[in-house]
Amino acid sequence: MIKKKKHIAILGSTGSIGTQALEVIEAHPDQFVVEVLTANNNSSLLIKQAKKHKPNAVVIKNTKKYKEVDGALFHLGVKVFSGEKSLEEVVENKNIDIVLTALVGYSGLKPTIKAIMSGKNIALANKETLVVAGDLITNLCQEYGVSIYPVDSEHSAIFQCLVGEHFNPIEKVYLTASGGPFRGKNKQDLLRVTKKQALNHPNWEMGSKITIDSASMMNKGLEVIEAKWLFGLKKEQIEIVVHPQSVVHSAVQFTDGSVIAQLGIPDMKIPIQYALGFPERLENNFKRFSFLDYPELSFEKPCFKTFRNLALAYYAMEKGGNAPCVLNAANEIVVDAFLKEKIGFLSMSDIIENCIEKITFVKNPKLEDYIESDQETRILANELL
Ligand code: MG
Repeated sequence: MIKKKKHIAILGSTGSIGTQALEVIEAHPDQFVVEVLTANNNSSLLIKQAKKHKPNAVVIKNTKKYKEVDGALFHLGVKVFSGEKSLEEVVENKNIDIVLTALVGYSGLKPTIKAIMSGKNIALANKETLVVAGDLITNLCQEYGVSIYPVDSEHSAIFQCLVGEHFNPIEKVYLTASGGPFRGKNKQDLLRVTKKQALNHPNWEMGSKITIDSASMMNKGLEVIEAKWLFGLKKEQIEIVVHPQSVVHSAVQFTDGSVIAQLGIPDMKIPIQYALGFPERLENNFKRFSFLDYPELSFEKPCFKTFRNLALAYYAMEKGGNAPCVLNAANEIVVDAFLKEKIGFLSMSDIIENCIEKITFVKNPKLEDYIESDQETRILANELL
């Protein structure tokens, strides 16, 4: 039997996850076909990628760059679209089997909803979508019979630990965290840390938003909420463990006390490949993990006092409703402000906390409520800068 290749749409193909996904796809021409690529602004890289991978269509979100992209790709038979609406519409294409959502932040929400509603399975790299509207997304997935394959390394690890355990309840998950560049520091130390120091992650190479989130531990906070929705967990079932070597990517504890963990070198191409290839494990020539390279694996408790974002994320998750949406929107504003050196490192948590307190709480939000809460929070957070 000839196996049908999987047709992939990559939303955010010029970012860190998008470019690594294209490497995975390129190494497996027998498995994958690139159907759609999208980018916000990086027209030159999008053109280069499209020339190489010959997708059916591309979207450049910035309409000012449409002419440039269309001019370069038109004669190759690649359809070129532009604007936010096109980003939502392009995922409806019948040929697409999997949509890899590698957009940054809240911008991933609407295209992901559209993809689910057109029955496409999701390889989810955009955790903010689940943080903002986890209940809405999980309900839609059920309604449209769509699966989410996590790309986030921790959630990929948990997903892998659960294969074959369908009827066995999870007692708890251990979500590992590298601790970022400021592990072991106290609040006083963090008062004057610079953007450059915060961008210097010890183990992972990632985009700037998630790198700041890792330094402030908000990334782990968002991942706790992501895990809640992906695996149907309660607050008490998600424990963060700081593990500086980033080799144990996370673990699941079952009702008999057994703990299953997934290990590997820190390389995002592994979870990307697993999500796209699932349920198959595809061959690759990535560097192999060796226990002897890591004679010591260490584990620590995270400090919720120094990294207040962790406490805020748990608080927002427990409060539910639009609280995680507010947390996320405020975080996007403060991270951007920190990257522009408008505010200090510790001010980020202060402003987020302020927003959660002040924005009107909505217990059972619909999509419109999420959109409104997101906008209101951005306005408030900007005022508080
Ligand atoms: Mg992660």
